[in-house]
Amino acid sequence: MKIKVLGSAAGGGLPQWNCSCANCVAARSVASGRGVRVRRRTQTQVAISIDDRTWTLLNCSPDLRAQIEATPEFHSQSHDGSRHSPITGAVLTGADIDCVLGLLHLRERQPLEIYSTSIVREIIRDNSIFRMLEQRPEQSKWTVFEADGRFEIASKNGNGGVVCRAVATGGDLPCYVGRKSTSSNDNAVVGLMLEGSERFAFLPGVREISDELLSELEGCDLLLIDGTFWSDDELIRIQGRGRTAREMGHLPVSGATGSIERLRGLRCPRKIFIHMNNTNPMLNEEGEEYRQVLDAGWEIAQDGMEFVLSQEELEGQRARSHAELKR
Ligand SMILES: [Zn+2]
Repeated sequence: MKIKVLGSAAGGGLPQWNCSCANCVAARSVASGRGVRVRRRTQTQVAISIDDRTWTLLNCSPDLRAQIEATPEFHSQSHDGSRHSPITGAVLTGADIDCVLGLLHLRERQPLEIYSTSIVREIIRDNSIFRMLEQRPEQSKWTVFEADGRFEIASKNGNGGVVCRAVATGGDLPCYVGRKSTSSNDNAVVGLMLEGSERFAFLPGVREISDELLSELEGCDLLLIDGTFWSDDELIRIQGRGRTAREMGHLPVSGATGSIERLRGLRCPRKIFIHMNNTNPMLNEEGEEYRQVLDAGWEIAQDGMEFVLSQEELEGQRARSHAELKR
């Protein structure tokens, strides 16, 4: 399984258009060559492939068009001038704008397989702008799943592929919907467990890590998980108002009940935070928070990261991880 991180920031990216927080100011200064403390990041986008020819997107970022152009494997490969895309499908973990806006970049009558929970499909289909995805009958093929349901996504010449399973992560409906989830198990937000010969967990929005979720993550080969906020009151402190991280559906990274503590005993060779909000202080590579994350055995995703999950590669990673633990 090959995994590409095309974007790693939360909504707004880094820098965000209307923000002058310390990170956004530092990221803008990178362009002028005045420093490299905070890397620029586009909005979170991940893609997977098992044959290097076709790709399945995990969510559809608002930055998708630029991300496709920045990634040669995703360019149209037609030799006769006809339309073609190596992107064959997209799995959605929620209906948040960060997760679905990029679908509109894929609207050019190009066939696309879309996978989501039923409530996410309902929200998208209720919104008339997304009818551009259904201009002709065979344009969008929608597969609905619920938590714990299994479905196959990327395949190799049609012969078996990656089995995807959704896991509950406790999030609510996006605020533009104008109503709350009516039930905690309506699957408004899910994480994805992708299983070929290896296991990859992708959970960009996690409000809580239940004991069930913790046992799902145990022993996975690669984890990309919600790193949106460092602390619960991060936005309130910067803006002087607003909602807490948890109220927005994101378990903070730090603190006694944060994700680093909650996942401290997790056996996984590569634990990586993704979907960082531009205000998150751990993005400052000269800062104390950045050091704490690395010292706890975590990595922080960057645009352009790539992983090849193969048994050989993983054994090497495990050996390195064990050697570090023994030190
Ligand atoms: Zn900012």
